[in-house]
Amino acid sequence: ASVSDLIAAGERSISFEFFPPKDEAGERQLWTALRELEPLQPTFVSVTYGAGGSTRDRTVHITEGIAANTTLTPMAHLTCVGHSRDELRSVIGSYAAAGVRNVLALRGDPPGGPGTPWEPTPGGLTYASELVELVTSLGDFCVGAAAFPEGHREAESVEADALVMRAKQDAGARFAITELFFRVEDYFALRERCDAVGVTIPILPGIMPITSLKQVLRMTELSGREVPREVVDRVARFDGDPAAVRAEGIAIATEMCDELLAGGSPGLHFYTLNRSRATREIYAGLRSTVG
Ligand code: FAD
Repeated sequence: ASVSDLIAAGERSISFEFFPPKDEAGERQLWTALRELEPLQPTFVSVTYGAGGSTRDRTVHITEGIAANTTLTPMAHLTCVGHSRDELRSVIGSYAAAGVRNVLALRGDPPGGPGTPWEPTPGGLTYASELVELVTSLGDFCVGAAAFPEGHREAESVEADALVMRAKQDAGARFAITELFFRVEDYFALRERCDAVGVTIPILPGIMPITSLKQVLRMTELSGREVPREVVDRVARFDGDPAAVRAEGIAIATEMCDELLAGGSPGLHFYTLNRSRATREIYAGLRSTVG
């Protein structure tokens, strides 16, 4: 099934993101999380694409396993990093062979790390919109793209970034998923900027709950942005009591999800970090219905 059709058909979409684990223990944990989240009947589950090496084959392997062994619809991420156009074609071919019809087409972060200058790989692609176009041209794929509530960190302005969203839609993207964020007003402002330049595709908000104070640092690393002070303060009050920190983190995320849905977001996309508990708790606490 194509993700965009599923989003259009459902009341509200719910989806879960995973990363390819490094070892067997990690793989068992991933499968446990997948099995525990399967009963929520998500619209799709997605698997990220690593920066290089063998982790990339594992994205193919895991999405294939999901397609073959579960009732879930898998989506594979793909980036332009370190790949020529021919190599990208070949990865897209392996997705097709694995039964994966949904692809999230990304540029990827600069190989030197987020914040360093981006250099395309020789014979490769410069922008995610080119990858959207390439995947779309290679078969009956449903292609999604990344969106940034606070603007992409390399973007000239949030307005320029909205035009990039429009370019991804024009290249064939049928839905978008946002980077993690904490202020719901940033998501709605993104939607407005996109509406203003003719972006009509659904934009799913990406949610990553705080489960520990260490997690706050990790989020800052992942998004290159500080977690807002008011959010840090709410959890930091419980420093020294990990269970209370976690409960507050779940409460913050649940409130955000309810506000997003109440404000018209087409669904919720959870960054699970290959665990199911936080996502299940948020789902159980929602005032709105999803799925
Ligand atoms: P682009 O759309 O190419 O944008 C990159 C920069 O170029 C932006 O500043 C944009 O404004 C600018 N730009 C784009 N087009 C033009 C143009 N025509 N002219 C001028 N400027 C332009 N990374 C991974 O490595 N693996 C993953 O699996 C992964 N999954 C992700 C999932 C989600 C939901 C999100 C939000 C991000 C994910 N990322 C992943 C991170 C992503 O690859 C980085 O954020 C990357 O820096 C930007 O990717 P993009 O697809 O938005 O790139």
